[in-house]
Amino acid sequence: MQLHNPTSEIYVPDGSPAEKALAKTTHMGISAHQDDLEIMAFHGILECFGKADKQFTGVTVTNGAGSPRDDIYAKYTDEDMQKVRRVEQKKAAVVGEYAAHVFLDYGSSAVKSAANKDVGEDLKAIIRAAKPKVIYTHNLADKHDTHVAVALRLIRALRELPKEFHPGHLYGCEVWRDLDWVNDEDKVVFNVEAHENLAAALLGVFDSQICGGKRYDLATMGRRRANATYFASHGVDESTSLIFGIDLTPLVQDPSLDILKYVQGYIDRFQAEVAQRLTKMSR
Ligand SMILES: [Zn+2]
Repeated sequence: MQLHNPTSEIYVPDGSPAEKALAKTTHMGISAHQDDLEIMAFHGILECFGKADKQFTGVTVTNGAGSPRDDIYAKYTDEDMQKVRRVEQKKAAVVGEYAAHVFLDYGSSAVKSAANKDVGEDLKAIIRAAKPKVIYTHNLADKHDTHVAVALRLIRALRELPKEFHPGHLYGCEVWRDLDWVNDEDKVVFNVEAHENLAAALLGVFDSQICGGKRYDLATMGRRRANATYFASHGVDESTSLIFGIDLTPLVQDPSLDILKYVQGYIDRFQAEVAQRLTKMSR
């Protein structure tokens, strides 16, 4: 497979040939940065962990050059950080038993440029080779520009692919904005309470990010716990750990759907729910 950047890489933890590893994929996570998938796509990793018939492949679109740094990493250059973050992502791929992890190695400005077609071409090549049944990516209401750009490039790439390469499900998940605000009937709810140790291990390998002064590991486990407890106000918790997503599959199946209007629909339904309760309780 020919990817655009000479520094791109398809890492296969068990050492088998890349094309063979990719072809085994059933679940795929596509994110902007090293560590995003372990935060947002843990459901897919968990679905495949230890299973003979399911395999997870990760795709990281950016090179991770611009991340904040502190502690033992304080004097690292952008180039040093790229190396460290790639090693960390490989550690996660080993811990999570991924079939493969693809590093596309783009600078974030290239990803944020809608005119740049290279990212989409790379994504199409990977999806053709892997034919995932389920894809997890960033939600379109995320507040990080690069995250939203990756989700948009992915949707465009999928729309350009023949239907036989479309995943059965495309989910937008939580990193830089949770989805607690989405009406319950609009949420896709992923129960991820199994293998809590694995969740902690996957988040813990990204030392350069956590040492940068951000406890993503604690925050992510806390968000999942909060999602579970605050999901239903009546009755006892049915799970100790939930990740929320929104279903982006219709945007792929029907390319005529306007992406902005689709996301606006979630916001409108949220607004209507808040207004309805306020009105009801004011009578
Ligand atoms: Zn990110």
